[in-house]
Amino acid sequence: MAEDKFDVIIVGAGVAGSTAAYLLARQGLDVVLIERGPYPGSKNLSGGVLYGRVLHELIPDFWEEAPVERCITNQVISFVTGEASFNIDFKNQAFNRPPYNAFTVLRAKFDRWLAEQAEEAGAMLVPGIKVDRVLRDEGRVVGIAAGDEEMFADVVIAADGATSFLAQEAGLRERIPTHQVATGVKQVIGLPRETIEERFHLTGNEGVAYTIVGCATHGVAGGGFLYTNLDSLSVGLVMRLDDLVRQKIKPAEVVEEFLANPLIAPLVRGGKLLEYGAHLVPEGGVAMMPRLYADGMLVIGDAAGLGINNGFTIRGMDLAIGSARAAAEAILEAKAASNYSAAGLSAYSRKLDASFVMADMRTYALAPRFFENDRLYTAYPELLTGLLTQIYDQPAQPKEHLLPTLMKSLKSSDVSLMDLARDMLAGVRAL
Ligand SMILES: Cc1cc2nc3c(=O)[nH]c(=O)nc-3n(C[C@H](O)[C@H](O)[C@H](O)COP(=O)(O)OP(=O)(O)OC[C@H]3O[C@@H](n4cnc5c(N)ncnc54)[C@H](O)[C@@H]3O)c2cc1C
Repeated sequence: MAEDKFDVIIVGAGVAGSTAAYLLARQGLDVVLIERGPYPGSKNLSGGVLYGRVLHELIPDFWEEAPVERCITNQVISFVTGEASFNIDFKNQAFNRPPYNAFTVLRAKFDRWLAEQAEEAGAMLVPGIKVDRVLRDEGRVVGIAAGDEEMFADVVIAADGATSFLAQEAGLRERIPTHQVATGVKQVIGLPRETIEERFHLTGNEGVAYTIVGCATHGVAGGGFLYTNLDSLSVGLVMRLDDLVRQKIKPAEVVEEFLANPLIAPLVRGGKLLEYGAHLVPEGGVAMMPRLYADGMLVIGDAAGLGINNGFTIRGMDLAIGSARAAAEAILEAKAASNYSAAGLSAYSRKLDASFVMADMRTYALAPRFFENDRLYTAYPELLTGLLTQIYDQPAQPKEHLLPTLMKSLKSSDVSLMDLARDMLAGVRAL
């Protein structure tokens, strides 16, 4: 690397970094986008449902060019126990029309495409370089160093993901406590396209997204997912790190149990393992967000702790894109005023605050606390499937009405009426 000065150095070519690079380069700024992987997408991992409306605002009709897999028209929430499962199965054909609600994406393809858009707009992509530290001059961030090489810029954007070493190094945040992160484990399982369409009752490019709660995670706080791609499935688990540590369970063991569950096994049957990966997911909500800006530096995407898991959806990519837009707008204003100090860049925080990103982070601020409740992962799936077993079971004995059946199920479960009332109230408040 030469000792050049750029307008902006962006560290990390995930969805956050590449979006910021695209928006800034399009406005004529000198932008360099540094990625430690051999190519953008090579190190990235997502369940893979992209809620794409925000990207459509930035790159209209992106789905016509981008390597998206299937358009999600069917969302299923499954509560599972060892032998039983209870599904809430929602389909809406309205989601199959532009501007579409969500697509499955495979990051190795999608991130590469997004970084290409940034390059075409004029950004310089530098893959295969791991940034080691930020450079400072009188406390102000003025560039980055990778090995012996140094690069300088008016602004450095940390888009280096959930563990953001850069944000820590710049003193914007402490090391993240384990209760604020989850471990995501994911497999991509190849299956012929026709098999997927037959097995999941899909037409054309329609897709389904399953969220799975219950013994699929071996009682560890978290949940499973199964998403359909064109000719593969993205299947995995997101589990709270402190709970895994507390229960002394290895993620790989839970994954094996998950894949063998009677709900999941027939869905993945005959598939070929194509990819396996693990990654951290920020799950602390607003409470884990770092300071977002300093003199000469901004933090975006997962690095800024932007992630929402509300039990129905896992989101991070759309928030990363939204934060990249706010950061790009703030940098353009800072450039116009030639003021890259923390005060000059503080518009980022205000713009993010006014956008859907912080509005949603605030709406679901209580969700992380709510999902700390162990009853969600064992007692409630058992109560639900137990109740339905009572309803459908015909033992050649007189049946009871629904209410006494419910009360008996509740009595024989680990959930008291008081627990149920308290948890329902907490759920209503959090979600
Ligand atoms: C199992 C799992 C399932 C998920 N499911 C979904 C989902 O269905 N939908 C959704 O919207 N979100 C989901 N998420 C969250 C989503 O993946 C993230 O929110 C999203 O990837 C954040 O994008 P980002 O660009 O901020 O960070 P990342 O995608 O993590 O990108 C960071 C980039 O920085 C690079 N980098 C890091 N350090 C350095 C360095 N020192 N030097 C150079 N480069 C560096 C990395 O290689 C990487 O390319 C899921 C996450 C996991 C783990």
